[in-house]
Amino acid sequence: MRLIILTILGYVVYRLIKGFFIRPPVSGREGKRGNPEIDNVMIKDPYCQAYFPQRDGVSAIVDGAEYHFCSTECRDRFIEQEKEKRG
Ligand SMILES: [Zn+2]
Repeated sequence: MRLIILTILGYVVYRLIKGFFIRPPVSGREGKRGNPEIDNVMIKDPYCQAYFPQRDGVSAIVDGAEYHFCSTECRDRFIEQEKEKRG
């Protein structure tokens, strides 16, 4: 009986040591799946028609649709323009 306990104990200790020293492989590629391509996507400003990287722009939701602008100035002017359209 004692031998079985010792065997189990030894196994547990062995697993602990193994788990401590051998770390699970760090999945570097999966960790970097933050979609860097999307950040570099060039999109068009609906107000000034300029192309710019999406990550550098500002977004705004106008009438339930999301728009991306090259600057807050364009965003504000576009929103005002849309407001004027609607009266
Ligand atoms: Zn703009």
